[in-house]
Amino acid sequence: MSILRFHAIKESLAYKYVKIEEKERRSDLFGKNVFNENTMRQYLTKDAFMGVINAIQHGKKIDRNIADQVASSMKDWALSKGVTHYTHWFQPLTGITAEKHDAFFETVGNGMAIEKFGGDQLVQQEPDASSFPSGGIRNTFEARGYTAWDPTSPAFIYETTLCIPTIFVAYTGEALDYKTPLLRALNAVDNAATEVCKYFDKNVKKVTSSLGWEQEYFLIDKLLAASRPDIMLTGRTLLGHSSAKGQQLDDHYFGAIPRRALNFMRDLETECMLLGIPAKTRHNEVAPNQFELAPIYEEANLAVDHNSLLMDVMGRVASRHNFKVLFHEKPFVNMNGSGKHNNWSLSTDTGVNLLGPGKTPMSNLQFLTFFINTIKAVHEHEELLRAAIATASNEHRLGAGEAPPAIISVFIGKQLTKVLEELEGVTKGKLSPQEKTDLKLNVVGKIPDVLLDNTDRNRTSPFAFTGNKFEFRAVGSTANCGNPMTILNTIVAKQLKDFKVEVDTLIENKGLKKDEAIFNVIREYIKSCRNILFEGNGYGEAWEKEAKKRGLSNHKTTPEALKAKMSKKTIDLFEEMNVMSRIETQARYDIELESYIKHIQIESRVLGDIARNHVVPTAVKYQNILIENVKGLKEIFEADYKALAKEQISLIKAISKHIEGINTNVTKMTNERKKLNTLADNEKKAHGYCNDVKPIFNDIRYHCDKLELLVDDEIWPLTKYRELLFTR
Ligand code: ADP
Ligand code: MG
Repeated sequence: MSILRFHAIKESLAYKYVKIEEKERRSDLFGKNVFNENTMRQYLTKDAFMGVINAIQHGKKIDRNIADQVASSMKDWALSKGVTHYTHWFQPLTGITAEKHDAFFETVGNGMAIEKFGGDQLVQQEPDASSFPSGGIRNTFEARGYTAWDPTSPAFIYETTLCIPTIFVAYTGEALDYKTPLLRALNAVDNAATEVCKYFDKNVKKVTSSLGWEQEYFLIDKLLAASRPDIMLTGRTLLGHSSAKGQQLDDHYFGAIPRRALNFMRDLETECMLLGIPAKTRHNEVAPNQFELAPIYEEANLAVDHNSLLMDVMGRVASRHNFKVLFHEKPFVNMNGSGKHNNWSLSTDTGVNLLGPGKTPMSNLQFLTFFINTIKAVHEHEELLRAAIATASNEHRLGAGEAPPAIISVFIGKQLTKVLEELEGVTKGKLSPQEKTDLKLNVVGKIPDVLLDNTDRNRTSPFAFTGNKFEFRAVGSTANCGNPMTILNTIVAKQLKDFKVEVDTLIENKGLKKDEAIFNVIREYIKSCRNILFEGNGYGEAWEKEAKKRGLSNHKTTPEALKAKMSKKTIDLFEEMNVMSRIETQARYDIELESYIKHIQIESRVLGDIARNHVVPTAVKYQNILIENVKGLKEIFEADYKALAKEQISLIKAISKHIEGINTNVTKMTNERKKLNTLADNEKKAHGYCNDVKPIFNDIRYHCDKLELLVDDEIWPLTKYRELLFTR
């Protein structure tokens, strides 16, 4: 008896809703468990408070004495909230967060104990780095690594632990995490953008990069998920026939949120409020059991931390509601996958969104400058941007008939396309007074502050301008946003830096006025990056052909896409912008290749296992029942049995055919793996796993899914799509 499946279904039907109460206003709950500015004002001395604020706003170093004061106050605050432990909380390259708890508790001799937490513990810890991915950095250098406090992201309390956001680096200084290069990239874009802003407003001293992510996810009943080894071990279904009813009727998207899911969301959002994650939007997504959560956007580093934290918290809260959250980009075939749109913009310390159209011609020229430089950056580095989102799981979306395509392009809408066309016609060199006035009044001056056609989004574009921000839509739902955000901010920083040099050169050498020089450089940019602009249907084959003609890359597989991370252009870029050294870039490439290999390897093993040990024995069992039946018919009807047992006999044959299909393909797949595992070269290995192992998944699945339709439902061991996807 396939007990687990039926037991799980029975239990999931008997599920009783958890009662959720929301007594306090969200605005009152917000940030209650965060050592934020408000709390710091209460707990810190003026000196200590200013020390931290200066570190946050101006990157100033915090000295030991101040660190001691901050630590002591943090401890007092935490103890007042029942906290027992503290941890440095960081984001190693495994893609999940890491923490090692230490108690505040310490003995002081004579059988006495106290709670202690000093500046040393706040500022630095030395977790054993040897079990985290380092891409060879440890071998070449030092085995040790350390975590160091990031004061720009406030400490928070989760359950009974004080969590201190930190960077994680090797003893020799190389980054071993997502946060370190991100902070460097944010610094690079701040420097470059601030310089450019000074053309328009001398008062600008700082430019901040903002991120508003949108997290898509599936909720599956915990017990039903537990009955599927593929979901438990790989986060997705490796087999399973589609449900007769899936998303065809479009009856889930934006529909009434099912009660159990809503309870989960309310519970989750309370946690978000306490942790200072500004959760704002919740809704059903396209596929059954698929949902989305979006917060209000924040400074990019904080937003990245909040997304990582949210993903953690979601798993725990889900468990309280007997759910398992699936973050995988494609947990179910023939159904929409999940992404994590990264809404990105830049804003000044004077309160201007540099990607929002302004009210005056000059502020619009500033907007156009940043807008066009971003497009140019994407044009120059489209392959790197594609590499930024390349993983084994996101491969199921990009270029696999799922939103968006593997080709990076930029959507800007009709109105802005027209503006760019007009700017392309600007005279070379000095402009006549007439042309200047005309440009200011009729082109730049006419950009409306609300761009209408940008609200009618082009959903197929991987990188779309949406009115006052760019939306990087190709990011996968499992991603740590730190990776794409590091790359996006770095390429824009580099572009702005080059832009500044070009404009200054025209001013100094050609005697052009500032605005003339800007118009001149912008004009050339528009001409040179026309190829990246695309307003049409990104899914169509026509676009693939057109993109090829335009010379845009179309890397459908992860190993192909990742190569751009190791090109000379990329290495030079990261070095020039002080984001990553050659060694760090190389290390990340190795880690990502290895992660790809391991993911496919695990999936392959799990699939082989389920196919051989669950599906085949079940098929044989059912076949035996049929054989018994045929034998019986023969016994009773003798010569006439053939006509009577015709269907059964053809079923018996069909089952044999599928069993054979499974076994030969599993053997073939295992042999491919064996061959590849002897390779030392990770690039070759990854290509092998991609091109020789992964395609066999489909063949195995085909036969398994056919058997699912043939075999008696009562003995089928694997919970079916229709049972997994309609939890209420
Ligand atoms: P959708 O794309 O689902 O239609 P919106 O475009 O309204 O939704 O917003 C999506 C996300 O964009 C939200 O998380 C929001 O906080 C974020 N966002 C809005 N404005 C900005 C901005 N200027 N910079 C960065 N993110 C932003
Ligand atoms: Mg969006």
